[in-house]
Amino acid sequence: MIVVMKPGASQREIEHIVERIEQLGLRSHIIVGTERTVVAALGEKRDGAKQALETGEGVEKVVPILAPFKMASTEVKKERTVVRALGLEVGGGRIGVVAGPCSVESRTQILDVAHAVKEAGATALRGGAFKPRTSPYSFQGLKEVGLQLLAEARDQTGLAIVTEVMAPEHVKLVAEYTDVLQVGARNMQNYPLLEAVGEAGLPVLLKRGPSATMEEFLLAAEYILKTGNHQVMLCERGIRTFEDHTRFTLPLATVPYLHQTTHLPVVIDPSHGTGKASLVSTMARAAVAAGADGLIVEVHPDPEKAVSDGYQSLTPAAFRQMMAECRRVAVAVGREM
Ligand code: PEP
Ligand code: MN
Repeated sequence: MIVVMKPGASQREIEHIVERIEQLGLRSHIIVGTERTVVAALGEKRDGAKQALETGEGVEKVVPILAPFKMASTEVKKERTVVRALGLEVGGGRIGVVAGPCSVESRTQILDVAHAVKEAGATALRGGAFKPRTSPYSFQGLKEVGLQLLAEARDQTGLAIVTEVMAPEHVKLVAEYTDVLQVGARNMQNYPLLEAVGEAGLPVLLKRGPSATMEEFLLAAEYILKTGNHQVMLCERGIRTFEDHTRFTLPLATVPYLHQTTHLPVVIDPSHGTGKASLVSTMARAAVAAGADGLIVEVHPDPEKAVSDGYQSLTPAAFRQMMAECRRVAVAVGREM
């Protein structure tokens, strides 16, 4: 339920409602808006709770939250969430661009690509140090050495770091080096991991599971929000369909749908979404046209030699070109990039 306070309700009245919510065995969450404050009462439905809160001083009305994801819903919070990490801003007027290799492979590789994407206008550097690979025989990532190289790249370029964390027991280590914790598609419903990244307090890039519905995706985000960490970006990276001309199918209706449903910003990954370097730029442009708040794109200094996802990685030159094309689309739809 949402307790909508009257405009100008006093601090004392708001505190009283919070106390009442907690006495009813529910969790309270205060959202201070520009005109009025609302207090969300979260938890299992209680008989009589609505009536009990409605009689509180300073209360205008009590309305049920219909969506199963409460804190992620626009029913609870209308103002859009802006996620910030160093120079990366996602959800404001400017489109945030995260670019870099699938995996951190070596010092020269990550430093070269970091400088190249920075020059082209990226605001964050991606690179996997802990890699979720389909085959246990594939390269698994440089682990802590990879994290150290990412931190060195941040020192040299000022770019925010986005890197994946695969297990709750790794969160502390990864959080020491990164600016944004990425939860990969395969882990979207790893609930202990979602809670652990939430508690780490860093911004989170949550990728959609390839077979997850929008409701499951938003409920996964809810696990992070419930810890009190509201810096969550939702990343569409393509889903599994019968189609096999692309690695995954990239549904761009996700962007306007999520904008109607949640205040959290939406990031599109055209690299995993297509699995083909030749399709990435066009889909990035389409994502910008659809209103995406951010892009995450794989870029490798020498895609042919990449140890993972080379076939979907742009060269630095192709990334520069992509940025120039996307900027024109951004201007056309009233955004900056
Ligand atoms: C990645 O970003 O390299 C990655 C493994 O992505 P996803 O979790 O979307 O497959
Ligand atoms: Mn990848």
